[in-house]
Amino acid sequence: MKVIILGSGTSQGVPVIGCKCETCSSSNPKDKRLRTSAYIETNEGLKLLIDTSIDFRQQMLKNKIDNIDAAFYTHHHVDHINGMDDLRQITQRYDKFIDLYANKTTVDEMKISFRYVFDKELIKYKSVPLVKFHVIKNRMFKVKDVEIMPVECMHGNLKIFGYRINNFAYITDCSAISDKELKKLEGLKVLVINALRIRPHPTHFNLQEAIGISKRVKPKRTFFTHLTHDILHEKINSSLPKGIELAYDNLEFRI
Ligand SMILES: [Zn+2]
Ligand SMILES: [Zn+2]
Ligand SMILES: [Zn+2]
Repeated sequence: MKVIILGSGTSQGVPVIGCKCETCSSSNPKDKRLRTSAYIETNEGLKLLIDTSIDFRQQMLKNKIDNIDAAFYTHHHVDHINGMDDLRQITQRYDKFIDLYANKTTVDEMKISFRYVFDKELIKYKSVPLVKFHVIKNRMFKVKDVEIMPVECMHGNLKIFGYRINNFAYITDCSAISDKELKKLEGLKVLVINALRIRPHPTHFNLQEAIGISKRVKPKRTFFTHLTHDILHEKINSSLPKGIELAYDNLEFRI
């Protein structure tokens, strides 16, 4: 399957508005980070999305993606959901509903944030994104024939989902993960996990904590995402242990 990192930045993105730091002033394209999201194309041809970031429109255009079959949400924070309205262009063109999967809290919160998508009149004229919400529990589910395994993590006090598809797993905004959930990550080829910054943070793993998770899980490759402007690509990437790399926007790999 094919994976594209659509965005590797934390909630503010990088550069941060008004900031003149080394990373925000960097001319390295790898230091330009849109908000966190990933696109997955399975061998069966399913086009899957993890989160619809605030930058969803730009991400679709940049990567020339014009169709999505389903989206999985990690949680309801605005950096992860606010691009959802732009699914409208896809649901209009292909005249279809898109399935959205998330835990109950996320679905409840999204139904409040996007209350207008349930307006029958607007649905009739297809002037809202046509979406179907599915509440998922912490157990394996299928989209067509593809098995998706949620991986429950803590994001501060909030229970959120990462996702495993075959030997690929994607976890973001995690600050703690139980031994039981870590077991679901055995035998991975690629793990994408959040590593916010160098200093500790109450609701996200920092660099050292993310390195610790990677060393326990032992995937063949690990990519760090949801990065702040503390992380200057060139400098930090070259300091990481073998097998661990910083993700960057539009990074594409096959598994
Ligand atoms: Zn976030
Ligand atoms: Zn900065
Ligand atoms: Zn968050």
